[in-house]
Amino acid sequence: MTETTKGHCLCKAVSFEIDLPVRACVNCHCDSCRRQCSSPMTTYVGITDEKWRWTGKEPKIYKSSPGVERSFCENCGTPISFRSEGMSGVMHLYVAAMEEPEQFEPTLHVSHEEKLSWLHLDHGLPTHEGPDYTKA
Ligand SMILES: [Zn+2]
Ligand SMILES: [Zn+2]
Repeated sequence: MTETTKGHCLCKAVSFEIDLPVRACVNCHCDSCRRQCSSPMTTYVGITDEKWRWTGKEPKIYKSSPGVERSFCENCGTPISFRSEGMSGVMHLYVAAMEEPEQFEPTLHVSHEEKLSWLHLDHGLPTHEGPDYTKA
């Protein structure tokens, strides 16, 4: 049986389930993630489309730039996901919305060129310019 894990928004209306293991877990420093999450950076997992599903209400989608969709709970506003046509077939779900965020650990910083200068992270992970970690 496949091992799964779950996530949900603050009000629990939106929920999802993913199959483990995930394809990747990265910290993103891009301006769009920063604004959507209203947080200096965010961490998300990348999962191929057959390996995740909504289990509650589906989130509302906001198209943040051409080919990029970001989702959030329309009731409580929790950011849930982002997906890009440039990385087709892969969903990115925010680790902070997971029920057990400790089970994921990022291995890379993406869009590192947009990182806020006052944000200091000393864990020595590799960095990558731009959002597409699949080309890192
Ligand atoms: Zn909600
Ligand atoms: Zn980003």
